Amino acid sequence: MDYESAIYCRRCGRKAPRWISWSEANPGRRYYACVEAQHGFVQWHDGPTSAFLRVLLGDLRDRVWMVENEAAAMCKDQDAGAGVCVEAQKRNEQTSSTGYSLARKGLMLVCAIVIFVSGLVLGMLLS
Ligand SMILES: [Zn+2]
Repeated sequence: MDYESAIYCRRCGRKAPRWISWSEANPGRRYYACVEAQHGFVQWHDGPTSAFLRVLLGDLRDRVWMVENEAAAMCKDQDAGAGVCVEAQKRNEQTSSTGYSLARKGLMLVCAIVIFVSGLVLGMLLS
């Protein structure tokens, strides 16, 4: 990975961290913004993407959020997923410094599958 020079807020001079937008207009697009939101400093790292990719990434983002919400709802539901969540929470407490909970691993697996499928789609489009 090539070195990229730091970007600084034009108002306070602090280094602006890089973020990833998940907005409707710019899903997956990286940008720099000052940690002090009221400074209003925002600078894009990536150029705009195509309309097709915006829709695709937006759909994938929505799927991930839906799965996250379903997992959270399962953990709140005492009848359906309580056993799994209690188990996961215990495991998370035991290994909180080094490990991930069972639910987190499942979510990461779903994200990996989504990224893999989107890579396949992009590969087919670009070849
Ligand atoms: Zn600033």
